[in-house]
Amino acid sequence: MSSVPTAIYLDHQATTPVDPRVLDTMLPWFSENFGNAHSTQHAWGRQAANAVENAREQVGSLIGASAREIVFTSGATESNNLAIKGAVRFAMRHGRGDHLVTVATEHKCVLESCAAVAEEGASISIIGVGPDGRVDPSAISAAITDDTVLVSVMAVNNEIGVLQPLAELGSICSARGVLLHTDAAQAAGKVPIDVDAMQIDLLSISGHKMYGPKGIGALYTRRRPRARLLAEISGGGQERGFRSGTLPVPLAAALGDAAVIAMSELATEGTRLASLRDRMLKHLRARHDGLFVNGSLDHRVPGNLNVGFPGIDAGALMNGLDSVAISTGSACTSASIEPSYVLRALGLGDSDAGASIRIGFGRFTTETEVDTAAELISAAVDAQLDKRPSRAAE
Ligand SMILES: *Cc1c(COP(=O)(O)O)cnc(C)c1O
Repeated sequence: MSSVPTAIYLDHQATTPVDPRVLDTMLPWFSENFGNAHSTQHAWGRQAANAVENAREQVGSLIGASAREIVFTSGATESNNLAIKGAVRFAMRHGRGDHLVTVATEHKCVLESCAAVAEEGASISIIGVGPDGRVDPSAISAAITDDTVLVSVMAVNNEIGVLQPLAELGSICSARGVLLHTDAAQAAGKVPIDVDAMQIDLLSISGHKMYGPKGIGALYTRRRPRARLLAEISGGGQERGFRSGTLPVPLAAALGDAAVIAMSELATEGTRLASLRDRMLKHLRARHDGLFVNGSLDHRVPGNLNVGFPGIDAGALMNGLDSVAISTGSACTSASIEPSYVLRALGLGDSDAGASIRIGFGRFTTETEVDTAAELISAAVDAQLDKRPSRAAE
């Protein structure tokens, strides 16, 4: 394997590389320390159990939670499923309500989990967002009824990087006695989160979005007052009965280390990423008059930029950009490019949504990479606009 990059990776909202420090932490748990964390009758098991409990503490610290409130899962998809289906099913089974509130720009796994409980008889209110991508807390408040069990609003959007007003939502939900769940896959380790200060009851984390491995995540479940959930996976009762199955010790240890690193570098890395983002935007704006930014720039995670170039086809742009990895923010299938439902929720038409790209900066992104990528993206935009038939000829 060559260590020389063949392309510039600017798609850190899709996934992040495993930090080499995290990899070092993880590897021994595959080989010499291979014990089952649930076999605590012997040293192998106890050593593994200690590693898992240490990691639980580390993940909790990242969000101001205690170790006992952290349930390890396979990733944010599973955490979101467990939080939403678990909370609503528990409430429905005990006659404690059957309504949930969420937002149009949520990740598919949140929207589909809501749809799944709707099939079982729950009702859902899906609240829209403003042109800046933010939800109005008073719209959430107005949607809450006596039957509402859960409000699920993401911390940071994966396409546009916009931060939702979690602390305001937390105080609304807590005053109304409704659980607040947040999908924090794009927020954990990137922006400060405190589950107590923000009054969050359930929070989903993904390892591979924070320089940890794929296949591990966590769900924070508040103990006081206790967030009650019905388990998704039945079995030996591991993870306080919420999530049976033998824990992947290497992945859990890695997630813990990823949390420690992210927390210690959060402030400095946030400043650095914001300056890379601003640098890219400045380059692109200087070259393209019509450029528009999707989503609020003020309420945004530092490592995300989502911009559109009127008249271009983002899918075709990417096909011509072998050396820069970015994303269209559209769900592409082989035959068709479906415009992003997130951008549509901001009020963009198909043409502007289809002309938008997501650029995601990360821990190992350099200024030189940003400068080179800006050149390459600009040239590709120009090439496409030059090839397009002129308006006069139409
Ligand atoms: C990536 C992502 C998920 C899914 O996380 P996995 O760990 O890959 O299952 C969920 N929500 C958001 C906002 C994400 O960015």
